[in-house]
Amino acid sequence: MTTYRIVNSQEHIPIGKVICLARTYHKHAQEMQSEVPAEPILFLKPESSIIFSHQSIILPKMSTSVHYEIELGIVIGKQGKHIPEHKAMDYVFGYVVALDVTARDIQTVAKKKGWPWSIAKGFDTFAPISDVVLASPDIDPHHEQLILTVNGSIKQQSNTKYLSHSIPAILSFISQVMTLKRGDLILTGTPEGVGELHDGDTIEAKLGNLCSLVVTVKKQ
Ligand code: MG
Repeated sequence: MTTYRIVNSQEHIPIGKVICLARTYHKHAQEMQSEVPAEPILFLKPESSIIFSHQSIILPKMSTSVHYEIELGIVIGKQGKHIPEHKAMDYVFGYVVALDVTARDIQTVAKKKGWPWSIAKGFDTFAPISDVVLASPDIDPHHEQLILTVNGSIKQQSNTKYLSHSIPAILSFISQVMTLKRGDLILTGTPEGVGELHDGDTIEAKLGNLCSLVVTVKKQ
């Protein structure tokens, strides 16, 4: 059982299901030759893909093109089903900055054939997350900068204000499909600038001044 690392807290909250959104930033959808759909596209990553800051992404032998994607992550604090938007923020425990690591070559084949993305998205170490910063009225998750650097140079730089759906809308939508439980994690999708990871890279990801993540990259 993997538990979150929480800023200024010794609480042990097990990590539940990891629910990811795709194509939620227009410029990233464009760079993938896609469009932002009216309703969010959802997929799941296994809990076993989680790693923490100062650990390593392992490039699997099955892929020759593994990409970084910086994302805002939302940690759920209590169970909810059919959550109305006006109550949705009550269900937010905190925030992380995360990477939705993706085997892009495997995903490209899956897209063409209409197959699920579980392999492309689900390798061990493919979901690095920062420590959790607790939700508070002082934090507006809709106006936080996302910055990702590879070996010190900026590769992704955007702001959560460009998310295509509000966080209450995202939580409300997901909870129409599946019960959200304490410890579940929602990765809200990546802005533009995604690119390849290589053996020996050091990746730093930041969500404003709230939280940050540093991971290295190794071959399997
Ligand atoms: Mg993503």
